[in-house]
Amino acid sequence: MKRKYIILIVLAGLFGIFSSCKKETGFNTLIITGQNNHNWQVSSPLLKQILDETGLFTSEIMKTPATGGDMNTFNPDFSKYKLVVIDYNGDSWNEKTNKAFVDYVSNGGGVVIYHAANNSFPAWKEYNEMTGLGGWGDRNEKSGPYVYYKAGQLVTDTSAGIGGTHGKRREFMVVSRKADHPITKGLPARWLHGTDELYSLLRGPALNMEVLATAFADSAKGGGTMRDEPMLMTIAYGKGRIFHTAMGHADEGGGPAMQCAGFIITLQRGAEWAVTGNVTQPVPFDFPTAAGVVLRPDFKEVTVDEAIKNIGSYEIGKSTKNLTCLQYHIRKLAGDQAGLLNLEKQMVTVLESSDATTEGKKLLLRELSWMGTSFCQPAINKLSSVEELKDEAAFALERLK
Ligand code: ZN
Repeated sequence: MKRKYIILIVLAGLFGIFSSCKKETGFNTLIITGQNNHNWQVSSPLLKQILDETGLFTSEIMKTPATGGDMNTFNPDFSKYKLVVIDYNGDSWNEKTNKAFVDYVSNGGGVVIYHAANNSFPAWKEYNEMTGLGGWGDRNEKSGPYVYYKAGQLVTDTSAGIGGTHGKRREFMVVSRKADHPITKGLPARWLHGTDELYSLLRGPALNMEVLATAFADSAKGGGTMRDEPMLMTIAYGKGRIFHTAMGHADEGGGPAMQCAGFIITLQRGAEWAVTGNVTQPVPFDFPTAAGVVLRPDFKEVTVDEAIKNIGSYEIGKSTKNLTCLQYHIRKLAGDQAGLLNLEKQMVTVLESSDATTEGKKLLLRELSWMGTSFCQPAINKLSSVEELKDEAAFALERLK
């Protein structure tokens, strides 16, 4: 009997090891770039990193020939992909490739239109139907209406005028217009976006298009239309789904527009929706709010293990993002004693480290005072004799009794 159990446990263990080693491959994703009035050499690898980071996508970057090159050589096999991300603004593709792309989307392929990709191909009717709205490239009233929100109402405005402009770069508030859409569900109704161009006066066919979020182009803040301009859109084309983000102007290293956690997370959610029509990704703890911009300088969500280590170098006045991350995970693990003990052990390692800052240790002592167990008490006892920490240590020990 006992032996049987042991065998079962060993088998379960092996199964666990194998299933955790198995490399899951995500949705095959093609990022098209190679020409752009923007720094595509920076943006395309970042788009790949942002998408692959979710574990849902396996992306590759394909470059068109350079400006003026022979476009007859650009013939991607779209049928290999579940998602095509357009980070391209340049010469027309050849007719065969255009048709293959239209077929791909008509038959249910997913698409992400990123920032200046909505400047592309002003004369390609189907492409403009996929983007919904576009700018520049001599677009005007013949391209379709302006679409924006005014006084809380969606306006379709056919008046004459240019398509596409933006004022000075600035931080701006993004306002959700569809709280129940899979992409925006669970996100704050308003959140502050990192410094970016606020695309305005976009116009296009706007067929089968939903505006998910807007930003107010305030003329007092560096020029603007005084309209709530579309920032996030979805478009249905045949059986295909398109997610369009007007945000994310790339500076060196991505800059605040691409590093913005709001840009990153909405892109990840929009991309998943474009493939499946659904979003399974939970909203991370660091999604920005109306209170302030949140950047991810390395384009990754910080893990709780990293956050605890980072708290070890905390100084007053620095970002408390790592503490917020730790608190979020403690809350999430409520009732999971093994999970909480794992965090506690890592916190104790930092408390015992001579490299960790006093301020960082104070933060950890405060957390341990309410979630710690007998495990952390010896480490805290030792800190009772450290002049700068003795009050915090005494407080924690008192509560842990
Ligand atoms: Zn731009």
